[in-house]
Formats: sequence, structure tokens, C-alpha cells
Amino acid sequence: MRWSQTLIPTLKETPAEAEILSHKLLLRAGLVRKLTGGLYTFLPLGVRVLRKVEQIVREEMDRSGALEVLLPTLQPPEIWQQSGRYEAIGDGLYKLRDRAKKEWVMSPTAEEVITTLAAGEINSYRQLPATFYQISVKFRDEIRPRFGLMRAKEFIMKDAYSFDATEEAAMSSYRKMYDAYQRIFNRCGLKNFPVEADTGVIGGNLSHEFMVPAETGENEIVFCEACGYAANLEKATSGIPKTAAREVGPTPEKFATPGVVTIEALTKAPHSVPANRQIKTLVFIADSKPVLILVRGDDQLNEAKLASVLGTTVFRPAETPEIFDALGAHPGSLGAVGVTKFPVFADERLRGANGMTTGANEDGFHFNKVSLERDIPGARWADLRTVGAGEPCAKCAKPLKIQRGIEVGHVFMIGSKKYSEKLNAYYLAEDGTRKPCVMGCYGIGITRTLQSIIEQSNDKDGIVWPLTVAPYQVCITPLGVASGSAVMQLAEKIYAELQARGVDVILDDRDERPGVKFKDADLVGFPIRLGIGEKSLAKGEVELKRRGGTLTPVLAAAAVAKVCECLAAGGAN
Ligand SMILES: [Zn+2]
Repeated sequence: MRWSQTLIPTLKETPAEAEILSHKLLLRAGLVRKLTGGLYTFLPLGVRVLRKVEQIVREEMDRSGALEVLLPTLQPPEIWQQSGRYEAIGDGLYKLRDRAKKEWVMSPTAEEVITTLAAGEINSYRQLPATFYQISVKFRDEIRPRFGLMRAKEFIMKDAYSFDATEEAAMSSYRKMYDAYQRIFNRCGLKNFPVEADTGVIGGNLSHEFMVPAETGENEIVFCEACGYAANLEKATSGIPKTAAREVGPTPEKFATPGVVTIEALTKAPHSVPANRQIKTLVFIADSKPVLILVRGDDQLNEAKLASVLGTTVFRPAETPEIFDALGAHPGSLGAVGVTKFPVFADERLRGANGMTTGANEDGFHFNKVSLERDIPGARWADLRTVGAGEPCAKCAKPLKIQRGIEVGHVFMIGSKKYSEKLNAYYLAEDGTRKPCVMGCYGIGITRTLQSIIEQSNDKDGIVWPLTVAPYQVCITPLGVASGSAVMQLAEKIYAELQARGVDVILDDRDERPGVKFKDADLVGFPIRLGIGEKSLAKGEVELKRRGGTLTPVLAAAAVAKVCECLAAGGAN
């Protein structure tokens, strides 16, 4: 490609709209342009990178035995209602009406459609296992689209779905995808690691996210350097000890706490109850009904864990009037002692605890000497707390660390209840019985992966593309473009030869100052730049520069061979 004949609108200044570095570089290097919040146009260079990432994904999916399909993006809401996700995703789902006022759903993923396909096409165990994938545009009604392609309303995703006869076979399909994901992100030049993840609204019982470590990531990852344990904060557990039991009196005792409405205030004199001897009582509204959640005073509730305990993401903190209606007291004096009308969920860390202090459901009063099992017998136990840095690892007791990351891929083991049974994807087993297919589903955010590569691979001058996904691998930069000049003749010759060898090469034939050309090439981040100027050419040399490396003079006659050698050796880095 000749630079003068494509569109690479690089920017000197950083657009005000961009908050994080990769977003700035996407815009400055002329890869994308914003149409409006959460919607981006891909320019020619951006499309080239996109296609390369897609191709790596496609090759590894094919290699794993998955079959490429293409499913409709516009989908009937009925199948979404059948799976229950119409409600579960709620406002995150884009919906539109056609001229007959019929409603349609714009697909964020395609479990319902692929399961409908399986229901129609898979009849016998002989057709299993089967894994299908597609690379297509997806939609999500983001409240707050941000960070460029990281959280957009429209994005490109690879989604795959496996169907198996047994749980065991499904695990093997899961493993294949997991391995393919590692190969994909490695080939994209991304440092990444898989972490145990929450299964969220997709449902299921086993899940891993592939995370790219980055300060700007929206996920927090809990990990143990000693044993390799790694989990999303939404899912992570630790080996932190349960609350110690003590000797206490036979019944809770009510005591006056006028004006004390926080955990913190109760730790102060005259009460002096440490936070770890208090029960924090939170009230949520799920399915239009109050639910009481108990965690220790010094712990934080993890809402993702609460979602999986409640089996829905459709819940919210109760408003003060709703709380007063339900419990007869205001926040700050709440507790679960004697509460039988509403479900109570208590964090595992409180199991067996006694001698605890909690609100008495009477403004200005608390109970002490509360014994969890004795005084709140209806409580259901669950892991509800958020792990903190420095807590002991559950596997090896070494201190856990927390770091931020960007989720670029997600694999789920789903089983058969969530979709196969609801959408009738059954097969005839070898013993003649009808059984639901065991499913897995697997996503890669293609556009997010692209931006993650930039977020991870850059320097002060711009993007540093890994060779595998660079928009062009080589940029030839003649320092004068007068047609017929020795410099331009050589540039044209090398350009033609590299093209003939199948190298992705761009010729910067713009009539610009050398400084502008070099700056642009570094900003866009071509792995190899070949500079051709009169001075060095007088010595029979050209200048080869790897992105981020030093300038090396090479003989003009050997330039093509040298570039090819560089590419074969893995390019710039
Ligand atoms: Zn460990």
C-alpha cells in the first residue's frame, strides 16, 4: 500500500474524549474515529488489525475442531423469554420494533439461537460432540460506554458453543476451547492469564476469564504468586479464619445506642464493639420482596456473589421507607434476630459466631450476645464477602494479591438446564433414551482484544505492534519522493520485492519532512521501518529500524533479505 493512497489520519494532539492510553492511541494513530458515544468507525489501518486478530481466532477455532457458522443478529424475543434471559439481562438488551410493532432483540450473544439450531439439527449421540462458532457484531445497551472499544454499545465478538452427550465429554470440549484461547492470546502477543470467574447471567458452574493485566482494567483479579491461584474478585475466596466463638449469656440483650447508626460509630466509646464482633445487616429488594443479607461488620458484601446466591441479577438495595416498612427501623439499627417474614442470607464467615452485636430493629437500640445459629436460625449460609489483599490463600495460606485486568475472553461450562432443557435441545442416547445436550459457551471480544494489545504494547512515541497483528509489518520511508530520484527508485524497487515475497508493506510516498514521517511511523507502530536517504545511499546503505530498537545501517542490496530475516526471527520485539 502507498501511504498517499490510503487514509491514515494521524493526530498530533490527544482528543479530549479519550481517557486511557490505548483509546488515545487508537484515535491518534488513525485506526478508528468516534461516531458517537460507544460507537466507532474503523478506518483502513484499524480494519487491517481487526482482520488479523480475527484470522488468528479463526485459525485456532478451526484447529480445535469448531465449525464456523453465522447466526442472525436480529432475534425473536420469544427464545429469549424461553431461556429467561429476556428478564435477566433486562435493560442491557437492545430491543426494537418493526413496522408491524413486533419486538426484536439485537443479539449480545447467541446461546438461544444456537440452542434452537441444535434442537432442530442434533438428534443422535452420533452427531456429538459438536462445537460451533461465529465472529460477528454484537450489541449491548451500556449505560456508560467508555474507554473506546473497551466498553462499547456495538462490538465484534467471537462466540462459540459446544454440545456434548455427557458432562465428562463437555469438560473435554471446554478444555479444548481453554487451550485454544491460550494459543490465540499468545499469538496476538498479549500477556494474559486465565482466572476463575463468576458465571453471571450466562449461568453454569465452571468458568474462566482470560485477563490482560492493566491498571485501567475494569476487573480486579485476586491471585497467589506462591501456588498460582487466580480468580476474579467477584468469585475469589480466601482462607481467612471464621469468626471466633466466645462464651456468652443465654439470650441476646438489648442496649440503648442513641444516635449510633454506623459500624464505625459502634466501635467507639462508650460501646466499643470492634467491627469484627458486629453483624452488618443489608436489605435488598429481589423479586419485589425484601431480602436480608448479613456480613461481618468489617467485611464488604460482594454483589456478584449475592447475584449467584439469589439466582438473579435483578435486585437492588432497598430504599429507607421500604426498610422501615419491612423491619420497623431505619438503617443503622437493623438486624435479623427474630425476623421470620423475609429470607435471610448470612456470610459463611459468621457461621458458628456468637457474642455478636447487631441492630435490634428499633431505632437507637442494638442487641449484643447474639449467637448466629441460635438467634437467627432461619439464615441460609453462603459465601458473600469480598476478599481483601493480604488475606491468606485458601490453597496454600500465602498472602493473596490483587491487581487490575481487562477481560478479553471468557469460557463457561453451562450444563443442560440453562438452555438445552428450556429450548428443547435433546438427543437420542446410545441406550435409546432422550437426553438434553450438555453445553459450554465461549466468548472473545475481538475489538476489545485489539485495544488491549495497544494498552499493553506501547511507548512514549506510540503503539508497538506485535508482528502478528501489525497493520503493516514494514514501512519504507524514503526521505525524498522526487520521482526518478535514486532514493525513490530504490524505495520502489524494495517495495515491489517485499510485496512479491508476500510481506505486508507500506510505502510512505508522502511529500513530507522526514521528522513527520518518522513520527507517524512510530505513532502507528510498524514493527520494521526502512529509511532511505540520500546521505546513507551515497554509502550504498539504507537504515533499518525495529520499532523501539536502534537504527542499523544495512547494505541497500541486502535490504530485502535483511527485512525478511528480521520478520522470520519474529520482528521488532
Ligand atoms: Zn496459594
